[in-house]
Amino acid sequence: MDTILIKGGHIIDPENNINDEFDIIVDKGKIVKVEKDITPFAYSKVIDASNCIISPSFTDLHVHFRDPGQTYKEDIKTGSMAAVAGGFTTVVCMPNTIPAIDEPSLVRYVIEKGEEVGLCRVLPAAAVTKGRRGKQLTEMALLKDAGAVYFTDDGAPVVDSHIMRKAMEYAASLGTFVANHCEDLSLSKDGVAHEGEISAALGLPPLPPEAEETMVARDCILSIRTGAPVHICHISTKLAVEVVAWAKAMGANITAEVTPHHLYLCDDEWLDFHCKAKVSPPLREYEDIEAVRWGLSSKIIDYVATDHAPHAHHEKMLDHWNCPPGMIGLQFALPIVMELVRKDYITMKRAIEALSTEPAKKIGLKPPSIVEGEKAEFVIFNPNEPWEVTEDKILSKSKNTPLLGRKLRGKVKYTFFNGKIVYEDTSKEEFCYD
Ligand SMILES: [Zn+2]
Ligand SMILES: [Zn+2]
Repeated sequence: MDTILIKGGHIIDPENNINDEFDIIVDKGKIVKVEKDITPFAYSKVIDASNCIISPSFTDLHVHFRDPGQTYKEDIKTGSMAAVAGGFTTVVCMPNTIPAIDEPSLVRYVIEKGEEVGLCRVLPAAAVTKGRRGKQLTEMALLKDAGAVYFTDDGAPVVDSHIMRKAMEYAASLGTFVANHCEDLSLSKDGVAHEGEISAALGLPPLPPEAEETMVARDCILSIRTGAPVHICHISTKLAVEVVAWAKAMGANITAEVTPHHLYLCDDEWLDFHCKAKVSPPLREYEDIEAVRWGLSSKIIDYVATDHAPHAHHEKMLDHWNCPPGMIGLQFALPIVMELVRKDYITMKRAIEALSTEPAKKIGLKPPSIVEGEKAEFVIFNPNEPWEVTEDKILSKSKNTPLLGRKLRGKVKYTFFNGKIVYEDTSKEEFCYD
């Protein structure tokens, strides 16, 4: 399969200001021609991309591949398979594995295993504190040298403000940043569902939104005072978005991400009494969803990150106290963001920036380019094609998502990485979407 012709697609490449219909020829992994109306002639493969968008492939700065230590939930191979099926060719794995990624040898383990699988670029974030215990900083310079792209204790917040401040300053001096899972544990306590009408009606232990908001505010202040960058993981409430907007207006070096589930699902997912809805931070109310959508379109929120968090079936079947929080997300980011485009919350260009170019730039990567001379690294997707979420289509080892059985629109057809096709959609849907 040496020469591939891709016909009839609409290229959107924000970094190169391309937003038009072009055909593409990929030869031996390289983009050799981007032109209108190329005549099909003796190519080893012709891809019909009519009704499809072709964009730089996506980057997800927040996934949990559970490798090492909990590979019954996911591993770097199955995580990579889910990633490319979702259009992602760069992912950053969280360090809350067993053991935690707090030593250079573990950073290298993730990178080397990712390279061995070879489907996409698998990069590690390293822990801020040893063992993610919140007490003692890791050897950040050594971890950075080994290949860690940023620092986080995700799964848990950096509670101690002094340690957070020091970590932010060290990370800044190394040219990188700390990302925080903002949650004041003295406020969230044993809460499992967003504190509101639904938690009250169902008698679920409430988790107040200020558990997130107060720590977002603290980190904003630390960033303003020190000048060091800080990144807010999975922002989810209206007030948290407003706090970030304020900090950005103050000139703070702050960025924020939002997950597909916080853009799409609210706390009424708990109504079927199923812990599939349990996630941290919890699913919020409708006005919070509206706020994060607005935040994404106005760039108060910089990009989308899935917080792909696989858990085994038997774990998600536990009661709401004992079931671990989290849901998978790599294959749902595109359809959910396309829903926002269809409903006019964001433009297609902004959607592609938020899924692809903005997160790549955040970790200092040159975003993939759809121009002649570059290696093929792009995704071909139909923004409107319907599909039903079924277990067999989920390539992750775990199937924990409240979206099972739902119909979504927006489907990845092909993903190219390192000059090769690493994912091709072969499924056919038999239902009509109306
Ligand atoms: Zn988190
Ligand atoms: Zn996470």
